[in-house]
Amino acid sequence: EKGKNNFQLYNPTIHNLLFRKMNIENGLRGAIEKNQFSLHYQPKVDMRTGKMVGTEALLRWEHPELGIVSPAEFIPVAEETGQIVSIGEWVLKTACEQIKKWQTAGLPLIYLSVNVSVRQFQQNDFIQMVRNILQETHLDAHFLELEITESIIQNLKQSTEILYDLRVLGVRTSIDDFGTGYSSLYALKTLPVDVIKLDKSFIDDLNDPANQAIVKAITEIGTSLNLQVIAEGIEEEQQVKMLLKHNCRYGQGYLFGRPVPAKEFEKHLLNNRNFV
Ligand code: C2E
Ligand code: MG
Ligand code: MG
Ligand code: MG
Repeated sequence: EKGKNNFQLYNPTIHNLLFRKMNIENGLRGAIEKNQFSLHYQPKVDMRTGKMVGTEALLRWEHPELGIVSPAEFIPVAEETGQIVSIGEWVLKTACEQIKKWQTAGLPLIYLSVNVSVRQFQQNDFIQMVRNILQETHLDAHFLELEITESIIQNLKQSTEILYDLRVLGVRTSIDDFGTGYSSLYALKTLPVDVIKLDKSFIDDLNDPANQAIVKAITEIGTSLNLQVIAEGIEEEQQVKMLLKHNCRYGQGYLFGRPVPAKEFEKHLLNNRNFV
């Protein structure tokens, strides 16, 4: 583009990106101690009854100079450096404490979903960590669900064992962003999971007959394998109609509620309104 006789030895864009990544990596160190993390909560809804049944905890980070950094940006960095292990533990503990607080206050009972990274999931003491947090927070394991992505399938044998241990503990598990990764029907048959979460990309355009066919087929397979199926990223009424038509009963998305801080989420619990 710059014509001939032009050497470009320095690319400021790449430099900026690297600099930002380094900044994030350094910033993540000590972010827990500095109270820079918080959790937002988003409703999960039974679209047949219109009632909220659960909530997903989503991590937020406020960096002193960079401002709010999206988890989509800092989680991969934390995974790379291993910082995700202690961050993930903080998330689980904080979310379990919060749910327990709401239960103790007599608010309607809903289950809690927490995202878990593969790297965290594969730690030797992962099960012990979950068990400890449940004990410390006095949360009944049946209210906890862990969302894991399809990439655990690369280690099918080990993952299956961990999932079984979680099941013994009474913790439910869910495959997040289902349909975008490595899932095979064999894995779906083998893995002891309880829920599949249909990826937002299929939900975005449900006017596309191909997406409809996929949603219908996955819901059918999931249901016959005794799995709960939930759709993520629902933004419009029309999508709810389509999903219910294809027997997908559970949903999550901006239409029902955006992820919000605990104080604000409490309003959903207090209102106990119908979402559909
Ligand atoms: P995810 O687990 O698939 O979470 C859903 C993401 O979609 C969230 O983005 C949520 O805010 C967003 N979302 C929900 N409904 C809608 C909708 O109707 N429209 C649109 N456009 N977006 C919607 P968020 O909070 O930015 O998180 C992004 C990803 O970061 C998560 O994807 C998850 O993979 C990861 N993440 C977030 N918190 C944690 C955590 O505590 N631990 C780990 N390991 N990963 C986390
Ligand atoms: Mg998730
Ligand atoms: Mg998801
Ligand atoms: Mg997603």
